[in-house]
Amino acid sequence: MNNVNAQCCNEEKYLKYRMFDMSWVEVKEWLEKTDTVIVPVGSIEQHGPALPCGVDSYAGYYVCLEAAVKADVPVAPLMPYGYSCFHMRPNEPGTITIRDETLFNVLYDIGRSLIFHGFKKIIFSTGHTSNSATIDRVIRALRYETGALCFGWAADTEVFSTMCADLIEGADQLPGWHAGEIEASLAMLVCPDSVHKERFVKELPHTPDWMPEGSTKGSGSGFGFEYKGFPVRVAMDQQEYDDSGIAGNPLLASAEKAEKIYERMTSLFAEFIKGIKPIQVEIKKRDFPERY
Ligand SMILES: [Zn+2]
Repeated sequence: MNNVNAQCCNEEKYLKYRMFDMSWVEVKEWLEKTDTVIVPVGSIEQHGPALPCGVDSYAGYYVCLEAAVKADVPVAPLMPYGYSCFHMRPNEPGTITIRDETLFNVLYDIGRSLIFHGFKKIIFSTGHTSNSATIDRVIRALRYETGALCFGWAADTEVFSTMCADLIEGADQLPGWHAGEIEASLAMLVCPDSVHKERFVKELPHTPDWMPEGSTKGSGSGFGFEYKGFPVRVAMDQQEYDDSGIAGNPLLASAEKAEKIYERMTSLFAEFIKGIKPIQVEIKKRDFPERY
């Protein structure tokens, strides 16, 4: 990346990859050279007092655009809303959540429309981890019903923190979780005009009082906790274990750090896309008669 201010992902170098900006002539030209397309998925959810509600959408879109440039594939328009039910906090407004079934239907219809036009391999890439369970169902439904080969790619900062351990500083401070070191770094890179650095604070999750003795809440997940070291899942809302909406340490964030982390992660994504481009896929059902 040469430009460290890609707010709105509107840089000129991305334009020819953005289906939102193409006429059918350009879409047709893309289809003549590839049957692979990326669908970015994000979320609108509070990310503490310092980051914009759309940071996962920025991540979802930006990662796809960077990988598209490197792998030479088109990118469908961003689905900006996601499954964010546990971020619906009474006192920290801004989250707009889409129910699992609604999100499934939207992503499924996007997939069917792309298949109708001739795409055979679809990569749903999410900037928000909690969309993954829905995406799993979408890619399975699309494959069973149409024959299209569909993938779920996570711009998953928890994984990033493992794969970029040499680039992060706060390994013990949930670097990959909500509004922490990696997400705050990304925001400083892709949407710096929407970041309120003066509001950065370090905050780690606390164990809710109602949990049985022996329980620990050590992650930003809306489900996971440990009972005497054993992993257990329960449906929690974020405000039960986190006061400000930050789960990590954004004070360690920087745009330069994001540039290095995301260069490595988008190169890996592009390498993967180049690997799947030659796969031959036979579509069993291209029409979309249920589109009424
Ligand atoms: Zn996020």
